[in-house]
Amino acid sequence: MHSRQEAVSIYKSATNAGPGLRWACPGAVIRRPVAEKVATAKSMGTVSSRSWNDILVLLRTDHPELVRPWFKKLEPIEIQHGVVRVQTTDANQHQYLEQQCQNVFTQAAQSVTGRLVTVSFVPPPAPATTERQPYGFEIETDHPILNEEYTFEHFVTGPCNRLAHAACIAVAESPGRVYNPLFLHGNVGLGKTHLLQAACHRIRAEKADAKILFLSCETFTNHFIEAIERGALQEFRRRYRSVDALVIDDIQYLAAGDRTREEFFHTFNTLFQSQRQIILSADESPRDIPRLEDRLVSRFNWGLVARLDTPDLETRMAITRKKARLRCIDLPEDVAHYIASTAMANTREIEGAITKILALSQQFGGVIDMALARQALDNGTSESNTRNVTIQDILKIVIEHFGVRQADLQGKRRNRSIAYPRQICMYLARELTPLSLEEIGGHFGGRDHTTVLHAIRTIQEHQEQDAELQVTLQNFFKTLRKKPA
Ligand code: ADP
Ligand code: MG
Repeated sequence: MHSRQEAVSIYKSATNAGPGLRWACPGAVIRRPVAEKVATAKSMGTVSSRSWNDILVLLRTDHPELVRPWFKKLEPIEIQHGVVRVQTTDANQHQYLEQQCQNVFTQAAQSVTGRLVTVSFVPPPAPATTERQPYGFEIETDHPILNEEYTFEHFVTGPCNRLAHAACIAVAESPGRVYNPLFLHGNVGLGKTHLLQAACHRIRAEKADAKILFLSCETFTNHFIEAIERGALQEFRRRYRSVDALVIDDIQYLAAGDRTREEFFHTFNTLFQSQRQIILSADESPRDIPRLEDRLVSRFNWGLVARLDTPDLETRMAITRKKARLRCIDLPEDVAHYIASTAMANTREIEGAITKILALSQQFGGVIDMALARQALDNGTSESNTRNVTIQDILKIVIEHFGVRQADLQGKRRNRSIAYPRQICMYLARELTPLSLEEIGGHFGGRDHTTVLHAIRTIQEHQEQDAELQVTLQNFFKTLRKKPA
């Protein structure tokens, strides 16, 4: 394996790229070293396209999971006082870059230039007030943004998900008229969030003035509690009961609080009676959600309940190819097959596998073949020296030790009695399984990779100060590694 620096230098020598970033002043000749000095003196310049390209290459090497195909269209407009200003053309993309990519762009720019620059993203110009916006809709979401890739076009159908997919298209095209509510359920990683977001994208494309609220159950609960605390229930109700589509992901967590459930019940009724579309997802069917009261179970069954199953190999291969194409990679057939047959239960594993292969291939001139794929996917296991540890093994040992419930460990609750054992699970998963941070997050309530990283660091720090935790973890390691191969 090469280090990051090596990887970049390999890339550079392969492409014959010159040294790092060149600062070009308006009117200055880029080739001349003096251009750099002038740039510094005036604190103003531009980034050469080659340097910009180097930054993007470095990002693809270091953070393939964050890179999106549309990065190619980003344009650095100027450097001023050490800030590289990058123009964006789309509000969603701007938000994504600001929230997820600021640091990694800055690090990459610093590595390429050898200077203490920072990167800042310029929002797209506001449309002229007289001009009509392409979509006059209002969409509110607690997700950083609706993921642009989660569209129907990027969703692969197979026997496992055909009904759910067709139903989502039907409700998105005639909200409130066909199936209401639409309830999707299935295990983690089978595409529920993807389909929910695809429905939102479609509703907004079809109906210019639709108001859509897309959020997780946790956010609904938080908004409600906040509204009570601030004495702003009226406002809360106006907001929730006036939408054209209410889309709530992971509704199983609603079962936790009485008052929230009561409020949701009334929200549901109001929206239903006025024929507004309700779309919900959960990890289980309405009747299997523990502690969900009957009146809600029966309402959830009023419309259509569609289950998502684990995709078969053929569908997994099609998903693999689609995900690879989204990252502008052409996968040889045997590699696609190999990925699809390793990622069995959870589609997130496919993305993790592609990311690993991509990262390794960047270090070897971009070639992707079976040997490289094997190396990329085997590495994690041999490195961690634990052929067979699974998330289930980790859950079992942590549940036994802390006396917590699996549903809580894999759920959203944040109280310390749950959050701490959950962080330990994530730490163990990172140490003992080949799963990526994203995949680990997927197993624990769909948390993102930064949350997982935070959990791992927390446990590492605690361990240094807490001898008891050290012993506990050592015992966990011993037991888990003893598991027969
Ligand atoms: P869930 O919400 O059910 O846990 P997600 O919607 O988050 O699952 O899906 C996990 C990942 O798998 C996402 O990247 C999603 O795009 C992808 N995925 C799942 N099913 C499909 C499918 N049928 N076609 C394309 N991508 C899929
Ligand atoms: Mg989800």
